[in-house]
Amino acid sequence: MVKPDPIPSPALTSVAALERDGLVAPADRDVLEQVAAEFRVRISPAMAAVDAAGVRAQFVPDARELQVVPEELADPIGDDVHRHVPGLTHRYPDRAILHATQTCEVYCRFCFRRETVGEAGALAEAEFDRVVDYLRATPAVREVIFTGGDPLVLSARRLGAMLDRLEAVGLDSVRFHTRVPVVAPEKVSEALVRVLDRALPVWMVVHTNHPDEITPEAAAALRRLNRAGVPLLSQTVLLRGVNAEVEVLERLFRLLIRHRVKPYYLHHPDLAKGTGHFRVTLAEGQAIMAALRGRLTGIAQPLYVLDIPGGHGKVPVGPGYLRREGEDWVVTDPQGREHSYRDL
Ligand SMILES: *Cc1c(COP(=O)(O)O)cnc(C)c1O
Ligand code: SF4
Repeated sequence: MVKPDPIPSPALTSVAALERDGLVAPADRDVLEQVAAEFRVRISPAMAAVDAAGVRAQFVPDARELQVVPEELADPIGDDVHRHVPGLTHRYPDRAILHATQTCEVYCRFCFRRETVGEAGALAEAEFDRVVDYLRATPAVREVIFTGGDPLVLSARRLGAMLDRLEAVGLDSVRFHTRVPVVAPEKVSEALVRVLDRALPVWMVVHTNHPDEITPEAAAALRRLNRAGVPLLSQTVLLRGVNAEVEVLERLFRLLIRHRVKPYYLHHPDLAKGTGHFRVTLAEGQAIMAALRGRLTGIAQPLYVLDIPGGHGKVPVGPGYLRREGEDWVVTDPQGREHSYRDL
């Protein structure tokens, strides 16, 4: 017998609801209504229950979101440039991103898709047919990456049907990028886990930014996925006021290892509209990565990446440890001392 899911408390989706729960002050109501008119608000019950500044700042709207500078873009990573069929972004030869839905369990204040998330619902059946046709005609695509929105807001039944169709195409793997296991762990149901446990390898990249997001319920959801044979990776966005400190990231990455999740990417924040208060410089990000190197186990080290604005792709932008000096290389060790190295 599978235990029925408990009746969920509702998500907070308006400034009034946030005010009732004491998450915003009545004095800020007018300005926050303006923010909410620009960028959707939604905080899942699990995240509304976490009382930590680094978690709140990711979800509670802020007046500073109204400050938009000209360099901030509606499509900061240029997804639209590479859209061949509706719902599919094919930028790199061997893998394509599937926007299965535009909705999420939470609307993150820093999201690079903040202008499109929350719009229309799931990809229509006929649109998915065209995606499958494109994949059949494009065998170079070995991996389909479900993203969104958050693909795990879809029902287990719908995801299972999509995965069956993709399995028949003959891919090497599929991948899910999702916040659900952390922000709405109750949605990682037995039914969902069953459709993910299949011959076609399903990998999952869990988006998490702060150690206090990993509640006991989130840890249990990760365990269920793990038991179903889903390899777990993480992606984290580097954010001022949330996690842009060595100690916070060290705590997060260690915790992920304890829950059998391999830190994969640390993203430099994208140029999304109204996100200036979250932004850090590349030099700050490199200094954090340099401090983590040598002090944190290698398996907990993510790759620090920048999505080059304009759709030019993701590249590592971590600190450099190697430079040329005549015939020799100069290598910097984790303590900052330099050593010379010569190719034989
Ligand atoms: C990030 C991204 C991917 C996945 O890149 P990986 O380096 O394989 O994680 C694929 N397509 C697009 C368009 C992307 O932005
Ligand atoms: S797409 Fe991801 S980062 Fe953006 S609002 Fe949804 S859950 Fe947050």
